[in-house]
Amino acid sequence: MTIVESIDSGSLPVVETFHSLQGEGSYAGRSAFFIRLGGCSVGCSWCDTKHSWPSDVHPLVPLEVLKQEAQQAAAAGAAFVVITGGEPLEQSLAPLCEALVPSGLPLHLETSGVGPLSGAFTWITLSPKPHRPPHQPVLNACHELKVVVHEASDLAFAEAMAMAAVRERSAVQPPPHLLLQPGWACPDGQQLAIDYVRRHPQWRLSLQSHKWLGVR
Ligand code: SF4
Repeated sequence: MTIVESIDSGSLPVVETFHSLQGEGSYAGRSAFFIRLGGCSVGCSWCDTKHSWPSDVHPLVPLEVLKQEAQQAAAAGAAFVVITGGEPLEQSLAPLCEALVPSGLPLHLETSGVGPLSGAFTWITLSPKPHRPPHQPVLNACHELKVVVHEASDLAFAEAMAMAAVRERSAVQPPPHLLLQPGWACPDGQQLAIDYVRRHPQWRLSLQSHKWLGVR
């Protein structure tokens, strides 16, 4: 049984929900309500949310509850909802997106792109991984491409992904923002990313500001 088949369409495994600031990417510093879904089979060695990998250890939360939490976050100042994980696209996200519409908040997705694209989002952050290349439809649809840098080969991968993201893109869809994000506590990645962005102005540095600040 796949993860998708095992989950009632009226609920999803949720690791945590919280209202904080978006820490990274183009929306860094903005008030956001996060829904971290359980389940990820991508297996990045440097993953900082390994507790999210199994989907069956996290409570199945009714979509109605998530809707109410998003509405409360909107009333408290959240500017958008971020659906993150784990790998959210290992589940069908259409019911969740529909459930969150009454909150009135734009919906953002953070994904590695390994699953089929589902749901309706105003902003898609694609963070592709070299060992599990993303699906082409996610490359076509993403608004920002955020590549984590640990070693020099990650820069070549970033350029390959940037090309793949525009190769089949519709004429009306602007190219994605290009972001390089040093791996956390990785001095080599920091230096590589800084040097590369300095020499390639189409790329922008993305920092995990929430980690630097020690906030959630
Ligand atoms: S895709 Fe994300 S959640 Fe999954 S292992 Fe990689 S970094 Fe962790």
